[in-house]
Amino acid sequence: MRQKKYILPESEIPTHYFNIQAVMPNKPLPFLNPATREPLKPEDLYPVFVEECARQELNQTDEWIPIPEPVREQYAAYRCTPLVRAYELEEALGTPAHIYFKNESVSPAGSHKLNSALAQAYYAKKEGITNITTETGAGQWGGALSYAAKKFGLDCAVYMVKVSYNQKPYRRSIMQTFGAAITPSPSMSTRAGKDILTKNPNDQGSLGCAISEAMELALTTPNCKYTLGSVLNHVCMHQTVIGLEAEKQMALAGEYPDIVIGCFGGGSNFSGIAFPFLRHNIQDGKKTRFIAAEPASCPKLTRGKFEYDFADEAGMTPLLPMFTLGHTFKPATIHAGGLRYHGAGVILSQLMKDGYMEAIDLQQTETFKAGILFAQTEGIIPAPESCHAIAATIREAQRCKETGEQKTILFNLSGHGFVDMSAYDQYISGELQDYKLTDAELAKFMESADKLNA
Ligand SMILES: *Cc1c(COP(=O)(O)O)cnc(C)c1O
Repeated sequence: MRQKKYILPESEIPTHYFNIQAVMPNKPLPFLNPATREPLKPEDLYPVFVEECARQELNQTDEWIPIPEPVREQYAAYRCTPLVRAYELEEALGTPAHIYFKNESVSPAGSHKLNSALAQAYYAKKEGITNITTETGAGQWGGALSYAAKKFGLDCAVYMVKVSYNQKPYRRSIMQTFGAAITPSPSMSTRAGKDILTKNPNDQGSLGCAISEAMELALTTPNCKYTLGSVLNHVCMHQTVIGLEAEKQMALAGEYPDIVIGCFGGGSNFSGIAFPFLRHNIQDGKKTRFIAAEPASCPKLTRGKFEYDFADEAGMTPLLPMFTLGHTFKPATIHAGGLRYHGAGVILSQLMKDGYMEAIDLQQTETFKAGILFAQTEGIIPAPESCHAIAATIREAQRCKETGEQKTILFNLSGHGFVDMSAYDQYISGELQDYKLTDAELAKFMESADKLNA
């Protein structure tokens, strides 16, 4: 019988995170204080962030960071995750390519986000923090953080954009099931929320406002810190457990990937699958291609600019050097909620600029078509975000069919789509649309970042 899955025992859960910053030929540019334009030090981030996370964020020297034993113990609930050969997808496509995927949908939260949530919750607990807070739009990060907080005995407060709170009741109940307190944002519990509600009591909220509320809570509550589920360097680093396991599993399969693919929101799951292999391009002359799959309605890597910009819509964060569409960018309401972010992580932006990775943008109908083929062949209904990685994989596999090349393709299945079935419903009933984003629209949003670089 042909081998379908490559499984590693719990003892093979990685012992260290891989910090790609230490081996990058060109280091990322510094974060800047928006008022003084001075480069930030880790201490500048301490008031809002967990201190260990702040240190990891700016660590450009240590290639390997030990994973605390209590975090590895929590990883054991779902790690090592399986590496799977997608034989039936290959057959359906008639491609000579070998397609593998790393299945991160098996985590209790249903996505890769738990890899960082558990680390962040642990570091917070160790520093005597009692409460953590965050914002959530689509609800995936909120779900992962709620679970991680429960595991390490922290209280978790999630500000959820009001319109999502009402439209995505199951994501809200997942967070509540794991014991978190969910506040629809804007709320009366913060200055930022009150200001908005006194002007417009029916305001339906925005991610920018939810971030402002969560950061305000962290700044004004003793022993409370703010956490983020993507974009930042430490989050991307925590995700490298994905690729470190995949590297060993590919070796068990007797293969090494020619192409590595991940969907791209802020860049954390892409980093996770890519960086451990990318280090061999940097250090050992390997020639693997790394492809980020982003939505055509939020194309920061393919159509954005490399500039300093705020990481949040409200302009409360430091300035980050990144590929951005402008921090006021308002993407169309596509279903891959996790990919609707205006910028790319700082490390990823530098790697993109230096030609270590490539990006493609995809329309959502192509991605759902790919997701449905994947569900019918491989038996897993993918998250709408993950459908982008699958669509990009199918494009590469079809190219192999045309040229007759037998390439090895590895993609990350970042999550399952069980809480996104309304999106599949819309696709199946033919209601789902593609969006064209004009250059004029893009230029308008870019002004918000251009101003900061003048
Ligand atoms: C949040 C999310 C993403 C996008 O975030 P990245 O930081 O770019 O990985 C992708 N897939 C799923 C399932 C998500 O929940």
